[in-house]
Formats: sequence, C-alpha cells, structure tokens
Amino acid sequence: MPPVTSKNKLDLLSTTKAEMDIFIQSHGWKPYRAEQILRWIYQRGVTQIDHMSDLSIHDRTYLASIATINRPTITSVLQSQDGTTKFLIQLHDGATIETILIPERDRRTVCLSTQIGCSLDCKFCLTAKLGLKRNMNAGEIIGQYLSIQSYLAKTYKKPPRLTNVVMMGMGEPLANIDPVRNAIQNMIHGRCGLGLSPRRITVSTAGIPNKFYDILKLDVNLAISLNASTNEQRRALMPAANRLCSLSELLDVCRTLPLPHRRRFTFEYVLLRRVNDSPEDAVRLARSLRGIPCMVNLIPFNEIPGSSYAKPDETTVRTFQNILIQQNIDTYLRKSKGPDVLGACGQLGTNTRESSCSMPKN
Ligand code: SAH
Repeated sequence: MPPVTSKNKLDLLSTTKAEMDIFIQSHGWKPYRAEQILRWIYQRGVTQIDHMSDLSIHDRTYLASIATINRPTITSVLQSQDGTTKFLIQLHDGATIETILIPERDRRTVCLSTQIGCSLDCKFCLTAKLGLKRNMNAGEIIGQYLSIQSYLAKTYKKPPRLTNVVMMGMGEPLANIDPVRNAIQNMIHGRCGLGLSPRRITVSTAGIPNKFYDILKLDVNLAISLNASTNEQRRALMPAANRLCSLSELLDVCRTLPLPHRRRFTFEYVLLRRVNDSPEDAVRLARSLRGIPCMVNLIPFNEIPGSSYAKPDETTVRTFQNILIQQNIDTYLRKSKGPDVLGACGQLGTNTRESSCSMPKN
C-alpha cells in the first residue's frame, strides 16, 4: 500500500492506478473515479483535492478528509552558467533533496533523487558521504518532476516541456525498488499518468543484480555504473556494491538477462586520474564487454571538495574513448553539467543547507 501520512491520510501522489482502483472500490465509488482523480494529479497538476472541480463538493470534502497530495516544495533554484538548474526540494518531513534539470538541444532531462543520502559507499561520490538518511516514497520521487514542471509553467511564458527522466540523482534506486517501480508506473501510464515513453526513462544503478529484471520489465533503460576494469579496482572504489556482486559477476548477469527488443545496457564509467583511466584499463574494459549489447558513457570525475581523486586530462580521456570505439563499442563522453552549482554527477548533497539563491518571484 502507498504511504499514509502522519495525519493518517492516503498520499495520492504515491498511489498507483492499481492501488487507486482498490481505494476507490473500498469507498464505494464508481470505478471511473480512480482515473478521474489521478488525471487531476498527473495531467492537470493540481496540488489540492479542492481543485478537482468535476468532483462534487461533497466528494471533494470527503476525499480531502481521508487523502492528501503530498507534493514536495522547491525552496531554492541555483542556475548554472551552462543552463543546468539545480533545485533544492523540501519533503513533508523537512528533509531536503536535490534535483537537476539539464537542457540539451532537443531534450530537457530531469535527474531525480531516490534516497535521502545513499545506502552505498562509493569512494568518489559526495552523496555517499551523507550515508542513508531514509528512502524516498513514490510520491516524493515523481513529485520532483511535477514540482519542476509547475515551476517552469509559472516562470516562463512558453514553458519548456520535460522530455526525459534519469534516476541518477542522490541515492541508489535499486535499493529502494518498490517506490521507484511505482513512480515509474505513474510516469508511463498513458491515460492517467504522465504519459512518458519508457524509452525516455533511465534508471542508474551501482549494481544490485537481483533487481535488474524488475527494472527491465518496466521497459525502461537500465544504466549500470561499472567504474572499474578489474574486480580489485571495483572493490576499492565501490566496496558496498562490490560486496553484492563483483565486476565479473555483474557482467555475467548482463550477458544472461533478457533485454527488451532492440535495447542495450548503458554502462557508466567514471574516469579517475591514474586509478582507472589507463589504456590498459580501456583494453580490459572493451574485452570484458564483448558479447553484451551495450554502450558506454564515460564520465570524467567531477571534482568534489576534499576528495583525493582527480579528473584525467583531456588526452587521457580521448585515448580511453578511442580504444573503446576501435573495439566497436559505442562510447559517449558525458560533459560535466552544472559543476559551478555542484549539480553534476556525484556532487549532490553538500550545499543543501547553505545555498543562498532563492526562488524567483512569479
Ligand atoms: N547510485 C546510482 C545513481 C546515482 S550516481 C549509481 O551508482 O549509478 C550517478 C552516476 O554518477 C553514477 O554513474 C556514478 O558512478 C557517477 N558518479 C558518482 N560520483 C561521481 C563524481 N564525483 N564524478 C563523476 N561521476 C560520479
């Protein structure tokens, strides 16, 4: 069942269509009510039950007495010089998370958080240093999207449309699989959800293999953060993830998992100077990816305060990329987005409290 709030009310934003059907039935309402209510939330973006104007006043009052829409609130907006925007978002219990909006030529991608802090301990990642504060519920996950959409609608005359979702913000999505799954279901539901194509949704994991299929079943993209070319490297860089599964075991799982038609895995590889960025690393990586339908995203390390890791120079990065390309592996170099607001991969989690930018006036 979806979360019930402190006032013992059902959180409609965390409720899937199937759960809504049961809820509606248990209150003796006609079945069509489920879609009617969800459409208000996801397609018309209401934040108050009172605004659901095709429900009678009596029904609205009754619904408001047993349910609520727990939409998170944007408290600050930090604009990067490259167009990336970092949103600080407050949840109902006062916890703050970070969500990033990345505009690119023909797309606008929102990078969602799935946990407050993170349950893993990847050594190069700032969020990991927070530890896990708590898991986020489905409403808090999809609520980030809705809050940013509303912000854009209020801020721009011609508000840009959000086109893609990546779950690559704070946290490990597969360590919080049920809310992540429910949020995705509401994102892709055509009649009463956001109506996003599953192909436009990517879930990124540090590697919890027994949950891979749960994600693939939803027909969305799965990105796996490898970050190493040997088991030893991965053990040192991602100790908690590695305890679940070594690099070689992880790749074996990828070899055997049934992928949806014409899909491939995305592998992410954070390049760390003199740690995993040598030509030998590239050759080893290419060899171990043989036989797996995949593409590789190379992410030069984004600097984080106090870290002993550094970013490789450009020539090293190009050499690494060229070796993979020569081995017929589609390889993309991910540009750092929003580093000046600490909004890039692995930089989420520090200036949550001391940020000084505030919401622009509407
Ligand atoms: N826990 C998930 C999603 C969050 S991290 C995962 O591990 O995939 C999203 C991506 O950022 C991962 O590929 C991770 O390896 C990468 N990352 C983490 N810290 C980074 C840093 N400081 N610089 C560059 N990429 C980083």
